Amino acid sequence: MTAAANRDTTDWDVVVIGSGGAGCAAAIEASLLGARVLILTKSDPFDSKTARAQGGIQAATGPGDSVERHFQDTWEAGKRQASEPLVRLLAEKAPDTIRWLEELGVAFDRDGDDYRRLSAAGLSAPRVHTSGDAAGRGIAGAVLRRVEDLGIPVWHGTGVMNLEKTADGFRLFLIKQGMIGDQTLSARTVILATGGTMPAEKGAGLVEEGVPGAPDGLALAERLGARVVMPDLVQYHPTGIVLPKSLRRKRLPETMRGCGARFLNRDGEEFVDPLLTRNDLTQAIIEECRRGKGIETDDGRQGVWLDTPRIDQIHGPGYLREHFPTFHELFLAEGHDLSTEPVLVFPILHYTLGGVEIDEHAQTAVPGLYAAGETTWGVHGMERLMGNSLLDIFVFGRIAGQAAARAALQLS
Ligand SMILES: Cc1cc2nc3c(=O)[nH]c(=O)nc-3n(C[C@H](O)[C@H](O)[C@H](O)COP(=O)(O)OP(=O)(O)OC[C@H]3O[C@@H](n4cnc5c(N)ncnc54)[C@H](O)[C@@H]3O)c2cc1C
Repeated sequence: MTAAANRDTTDWDVVVIGSGGAGCAAAIEASLLGARVLILTKSDPFDSKTARAQGGIQAATGPGDSVERHFQDTWEAGKRQASEPLVRLLAEKAPDTIRWLEELGVAFDRDGDDYRRLSAAGLSAPRVHTSGDAAGRGIAGAVLRRVEDLGIPVWHGTGVMNLEKTADGFRLFLIKQGMIGDQTLSARTVILATGGTMPAEKGAGLVEEGVPGAPDGLALAERLGARVVMPDLVQYHPTGIVLPKSLRRKRLPETMRGCGARFLNRDGEEFVDPLLTRNDLTQAIIEECRRGKGIETDDGRQGVWLDTPRIDQIHGPGYLREHFPTFHELFLAEGHDLSTEPVLVFPILHYTLGGVEIDEHAQTAVPGLYAAGETTWGVHGMERLMGNSLLDIFVFGRIAGQAAARAALQLS
C-alpha cells in the first residue's frame, strides 16, 4: 500500500500518463518537490518501449568529445529542423543524466576505470554508454524502483481516454482494464509521457496489451488544443530482422554497426557506409533490393546481409558473444550463430519523430499540460540519432516533473 492510499485519490497535484522512462523521471522529480503525484499506465508498469531499448544512451563524457560536438551532431542529423534550445539542453544535461541513472542503480559498461563508449551513425566521437545489449531493462527497472521507494502510486491497466480543461486544472477520463468505467480524476497539472504511436508496438501486443483503444498522447494533446507537429513523421530502423522468421519485428542494435558489422548484397558486395544515419541507410537498402541486389526469402520477403561475423574478425573471437549476449543467445536458440553467420535484415518502423511541441520547460501550448519523451516534437527534428531517445526521456522527463510540480504547488 503506498503513501497515497491515505489521501483523496481523485484529486492530485500532478498526474503523469505513462510509466516508461519519461513518465517515471517526471514523477520522481515532481514527488521530490512535494507534489502529490499519480502515474497512470494503460498496461503493466514495466511494459514500455523504454524497457525494450537495446543499445544505450548518448553523453559527451569522453576525452576528445564535448557538449558542443554532441549538440552539433544532433542538430545536423535533424536537418536543423529541431528546436535549437531543446537540442542544447539535451547535450548539456547528458553527462548529469548518466550520473543520475547511476545513482538510481544503473550499471553502465566500463573499460577499466572509464566508461565503455561506442560509436554509432552520425556521431563524431564514441558517445554511446552501453549497459549490456538490453540497456532498457536495467534502466526501466531502476527508475520504477525509485518510483516505488518514493511511494508514488502507479495505477496500471488504466488508460486515459480523454482530458478536459477545468477552472483549476484538468479532468481525466479513465478506462480500466477489461471494462469501460466512468471514473474521472482531477489534477492541477498533467504530464503526457505516452511514448510513440508505432503500429509495430501495438501489433506486438506489448504496449497495447493493457487497455486496447486508449489513445496516444498526440490525440489527447491535440483535442485540448496543444500544437502537434508532423504527427506522421516516423523513423525506420535499418536492421529489422527478416530471418529467422521467429525473430521478425525485432531489430539488431545499431551498436553492432558501431562495432564493425557492415551491409552486404547478394553478391557479397558492401554497398553502403554502415554508419550513415537511419533514413539514409533505409533508403540505400531499399534501393539495393529494388535493383535486384537483395536476397529473397522463400515467403517473398527481401533483405540484405548484416555481416555480424565481422565483429569478431575485427575485435577477436568471443567479442560478439561477450558484448551482445542477449542477441547471441536469442539467435543460438534458433540454431543461428551470429559470430559465424550473417543476418538477413530490412528496415522496420521504429520511432515517432513527430509529436507534441514543447518548450524548454516541457510545457505544451496548453497551460498546465506538460509532455516529455517520444510523444514530443522538438528534440530530434527530421532524424533521431541512436542513443538520443533514452537521453531525451530522462532530460525532459525530469524537467517536465519539476515544472509541473512548481506550477501545481505555485512554487517560484
Ligand atoms: C527495440 C527498441 C530498441 C531501442 N533502443 C534504443 C536505444 O538503444 N537507445 C535509445 O536512445 N533509444 C532506443 N529506443 C527508443 C526508446 O526506447 C524509446 O523512444 C523511449 O524509451 C520512449 O520512452 P517514453 O517514456 O517516451 O515512452 P514509453 O517507454 O513507450 O512509455 C509510454 C508509456 O505510456 C503509456 N501510455 C500510452 N498511452 C496511454 C494512455 N492513453 N493512457 C495510459 N497510459 C498510456 C504506455 O503504457 C507506457 O507506459 C529503442 C526502441 C525499441 C523499440
